[in-house]
Amino acid sequence: MAFLPFYVPGHKSLEIVIVGGGYAGIAALTTLQRYMPDAKITIVDPRTHHLKITHLQETFRYPLSDLLVPFPQLEQRFGCRHVCAELSLEEATLQQWQNDKCITFVDHALPFDYLLIASGAPARDVIRNTDCILSLNDFMVTAGSELLSQHLVAESGRKDPISIIGGGATGIQFLFEIAYFLQRHKIENKLRLIESGDRVLKQFPEGFAHYTQSRMTDLEIDFYPDTYFRGQQDNVILLEEKNSGKRYELPSSLSISFSGKKIEKQFTANAFGQVIVNHEPLTHVFVAGDCSIYQSFGSNAMTAQSAVRKGKLAARNILRHSGLLKILEPYIHHDIGYVVSLGSTDAVGWLALENNIVTGIAAYVIKEIVEAQYDLLLTGIDTYLI
Ligand SMILES: Cc1cc2nc3c(=O)[nH]c(=O)nc-3n(C[C@H](O)[C@H](O)[C@H](O)COP(=O)(O)OP(=O)(O)OC[C@H]3O[C@@H](n4cnc5c(N)ncnc54)[C@H](O)[C@@H]3O)c2cc1C
Repeated sequence: MAFLPFYVPGHKSLEIVIVGGGYAGIAALTTLQRYMPDAKITIVDPRTHHLKITHLQETFRYPLSDLLVPFPQLEQRFGCRHVCAELSLEEATLQQWQNDKCITFVDHALPFDYLLIASGAPARDVIRNTDCILSLNDFMVTAGSELLSQHLVAESGRKDPISIIGGGATGIQFLFEIAYFLQRHKIENKLRLIESGDRVLKQFPEGFAHYTQSRMTDLEIDFYPDTYFRGQQDNVILLEEKNSGKRYELPSSLSISFSGKKIEKQFTANAFGQVIVNHEPLTHVFVAGDCSIYQSFGSNAMTAQSAVRKGKLAARNILRHSGLLKILEPYIHHDIGYVVSLGSTDAVGWLALENNIVTGIAAYVIKEIVEAQYDLLLTGIDTYLI
């Protein structure tokens, strides 16, 4: 059993329920398993598999099955149990569960010593009045190559452009994969990007947009900044100019929306990861990942890196809280970089400092290393130093 500083185990092994088997949930699982191999851990998740979602745009090149790790495989590898269910998560419910030390739903009762909420943040909904609109959720069940091919076949040869909505990190990663997919398959439909801001990748320094937009020009992708998407009907997209309010239509065979994540289901936690309800921490209920906002100096960015660090920290603090010393560790992690891929050999990112911008193959290699580190964690090998 590995050594965890400030952890002097109590007498019994713990029963821990993790709600959500994404990045934060899996990081917590592997950490708990490392320091308390006989802990009884249950993962509650409506999916049948863990999804390596940071690779989702690559399903224009690889099958979706490459990104799915079935929960039965994780059950075997880490000796945990998976319960397939989607729980309704409200502050009052968490308070009730902590009082009862048990989660009850439909025909299940899951007693626990500690509960970790790691349910992520769902993608924002898009109004679907036609088959000509796709969103991130569609790519979680069908590979990008398949979805696009099906749609283009149904269009029987029409060459109207494909419209991508949202120039954030996810939209840009999909945009470039789609551009290269169309090139590889000699499909003539053009691509356009609709963005409500004045540039792409607004959450990053300007150099990101500069590099990315010049690559978009090379690939002949039309860019519509300061523009709102107002809907798609049949083969027409409705757009609105942000500044003038003027609405206009353009031919469009398909709109694919990447308009960000819903943030209304986030829980506030103290610096140790314990959920705060009515200004008081729930000592036995922790939260991690995109669904959490920690009141600390650490990063609350909705990134896989922060999700993994929060998941690991919450797991360590669960163990310490159960032990004799009860000395918990505050969350101080800051992301050490972020790379946005632009197809299979190009990328733009920052490393160490936000203004230290890395581009091209070097940035792509950094991204591959970060992804490989997470793949190792999934096999039980923890190479994260910080
Ligand atoms: C296409 C794409 C590319 C990305 N690329 C990067 C990247 O390169 N680098 C980076 O740092 N970040 C990236 N991100 C962001 C990163 O994936 C997220 O920040 C990370 O997945 C958050 O981890 P999480 O555990 O909080 O949530 P998730 O990984 O989303 O997992 C949440 C889990 O909870 C389950 N769940 C949800 N609701 C419930 C419920 N009510 N009851 C039970 N279970 C529930 C879900 O089924 C899911 O399995 C990317 C995101 C996307 C969409």
